[in-house]
Amino acid sequence: MTDVSLGPSGYRGRLAPSPTGLLHVGHARTFWIAAQRAIKNRGTLILRNEDLDPQRSRAEFVRAMMEDLRWLGIDWSEGPDVDGPYGSYSQSERRAHYLEAWRRLREGGFLYPCTCSRKDLAQAASAPNDTDDEPVYPGTCRKRKDVAEFREPAGVNWRFRVPDGEVVEFTDLNLGQQRYAAARDFGDFLVWRRDDVPAYQLAVVVDDAAMRITEVVRGADLLKSTARQLLLWRALGYATPDYFHCELVRDAAGARLAKRHDALSIRHLRESGMTAEKVLEMAGWP
Ligand code: GLU
Repeated sequence: MTDVSLGPSGYRGRLAPSPTGLLHVGHARTFWIAAQRAIKNRGTLILRNEDLDPQRSRAEFVRAMMEDLRWLGIDWSEGPDVDGPYGSYSQSERRAHYLEAWRRLREGGFLYPCTCSRKDLAQAASAPNDTDDEPVYPGTCRKRKDVAEFREPAGVNWRFRVPDGEVVEFTDLNLGQQRYAAARDFGDFLVWRRDDVPAYQLAVVVDDAAMRITEVVRGADLLKSTARQLLLWRALGYATPDYFHCELVRDAAGARLAKRHDALSIRHLRESGMTAEKVLEMAGWP
């Protein structure tokens, strides 16, 4: 078992799974690394249940992810099932925090409402995009003058206006120097959805700040999102954490295992008789 009673050294790390399916081998690797780094730094590890999306999140997956993590030998000292000082550790119960951030960003002139449909966006996307990422927004709604009319975010999409051409740079503790140009590598991104659900980028920054996370360990598929999030951290006036992005686990053909959820779910492997050590070995650990 990982010993979460070490700490507190000041280091605070987090595991942030979304309960939209069973955890798979790729998650095992990232979360194991996150747990090892918390132990090595004599820190505190928290579990945050990223159940923002009511259409896709399921209570049975929350239970399954906690069981599967513990079966792997990963434990936490604050989380949905262990009280901590930062309120609820489930995003579906943290709406007031996101709303406050939305208000501050809107008042600071960082946001605008967007009524483009998915079809508009698909038509506007000229160049082939990264398959794993959202297309660069063409800026159609940037000029809207009705921002001040909205007291609540619901009913339209809300986008963060990125500073055109600014290069966002950071040193990843695992993968080294990273550089992304705003408006070229990523565009004005969603912070709130028209169906009144806060978007991932906003929720994760608000929570990492509120929960005093000092190091974010997560998959390398989120590197570009880190660039977006650094803009949000700055707009909200928070000091940023360190970042450690883990290489993604791929199969022999180079495909990401995340795409093959079920066959490689930790649950399935465990039920087929595999030990936790073997699952971690399959995940490329150590
Ligand atoms: N909940 C996100 C996911 O499962 C990860 C968020 C993060 O680590 O920042 O992909």
